[in-house]
Amino acid sequence: MREACDLVVIGAGPGGLAAACRAAEAGLDVLVLDAQPEPGGQVWRGEARKGTNRLARRWLSRFAASGARFRPGARVVAAPEPGLLLVEEGASSLAVRYDRLVLATGARERFLPFPGWTLPGVLGVSGLQVLVKDGLPIRDRRVVLAGTGPLLLAAAATIHAHGGEVLLIAEQAPAARHWGFALQLWRYPDKLLQGAVLSAGLAGVRTATESWVLEARGERRLESVRMSVGGREEELACDYLGAAWGLVPNLELARLLGCEVSRGAVVVDDRMETRVPRVHAVGEVLGIGGVDQALVTGEMAGLAASEQPVPDALVSAWRRVRVFAEALARHDAPRPELSRLATPQTLLCRCEDVPLSALEGCQNLREARLYARLGMGACQGRTCGAAAEALFGWSAEDVRPPCLPARIGSLRLPPEPPPTPKRAS
Ligand SMILES: Cc1cc2nc3c(=O)[nH]c(=O)nc-3n(C[C@H](O)[C@H](O)[C@H](O)COP(=O)(O)OP(=O)(O)OC[C@H]3O[C@@H](n4cnc5c(N)ncnc54)[C@H](O)[C@@H]3O)c2cc1C
Repeated sequence: MREACDLVVIGAGPGGLAAACRAAEAGLDVLVLDAQPEPGGQVWRGEARKGTNRLARRWLSRFAASGARFRPGARVVAAPEPGLLLVEEGASSLAVRYDRLVLATGARERFLPFPGWTLPGVLGVSGLQVLVKDGLPIRDRRVVLAGTGPLLLAAAATIHAHGGEVLLIAEQAPAARHWGFALQLWRYPDKLLQGAVLSAGLAGVRTATESWVLEARGERRLESVRMSVGGREEELACDYLGAAWGLVPNLELARLLGCEVSRGAVVVDDRMETRVPRVHAVGEVLGIGGVDQALVTGEMAGLAASEQPVPDALVSAWRRVRVFAEALARHDAPRPELSRLATPQTLLCRCEDVPLSALEGCQNLREARLYARLGMGACQGRTCGAAAEALFGWSAEDVRPPCLPARIGSLRLPPEPPPTPKRAS
């Protein structure tokens, strides 16, 4: 099948939705593609059905009224030439021709390997939160959370509210850095209020800074975790461990499209245009900044893509969210100890069962791929790539299609439909 549009938006999180609304309202033919079955992205997952979040409700109704077309379950797997995307949708494939593109592919959790991290019962921090929101029974289950930043608090609040027993919230950042970050929030009243509400709901739950997981233990599934808590070792019996250290932007498509990436984020100008003309980027791919950054940059890109002026108010809002994003990046930067937790037997790549010891002698990611099959499995290095960067400083610059696992047929341009025969007059 083939599709064409003025503007294609990849990702229907807050960033993609804001861009699509602004451009469609200005009269552009906008097509939004998302791998998920509903719009909303990570933060508003399920809100299209539940409608519990006021901001989400506002944007989702605006999107529905905007005239933008939405294709759910549409996974963009390749960008073989400028103006063309190859997309997999269930059992069928789609080629999309576009004039402009907005990249809004969001972020994923950063996993760093430690002994036992592949045991059943060990998940990401936000991954566990998402499962609980989607119905994972958590009542009376003992949970330890180890990670960093505001998402740790958000996950704990969800688990606590669903009846889970949060034994410990372990924040890796040193106390001075953590409380220094919290003190800066007076400049962002919304975030301060959000943090205060979450903390109030968690009164009585043990929280420690300068704390991280050393080992997950268990025979067939997680039974306990060994933790470093403020410099002392502790073992806690538990049913679930949520462990991940902040987020990393999803940059595979940006790299396939040829966008410049610097310090782990796509480089854009003040119209959110990347170094590739007519390709814009918004939200977490610009560096982790959360929902506010996604909305502001999304609106700016949608206006720019439809040749409208970007109001000064949006430009100032963009500067403000950047300051927050930079402070968050400093706070969430994983401490060096986290890169030294894996033993030679610890798996680094869980798709291909590659232990740390198999990488001995490898000088870069290419060698690790060729000689040890690191990142060659189903997730294509989406998990172990960030770990390899943290452990060895190897970055994944040479992305090749497909950027998500795909059928071979999806990498071929679908045939043109046969011409309709002319009727004899
Ligand atoms: C697991 C997880 C849970 C989170 N939970 C919260 C939370 O509870 N509260 C909070 O404030 N923040 C949360 N965040 C942070 C979140 O990144 C931001 O708040 C916000 O959602 C960012 O918006 P965005 O539009 O940049 O990206 P996202 O909301 O992440 O949207 C990106 C979208 O792009 C789609 N996509 C990516 N690649 C492709 C592709 N190749 N083809 C098709 N579609 C693609 C994804 O399916 C996704 O829907 C979470 C992040 C993660 C990773």
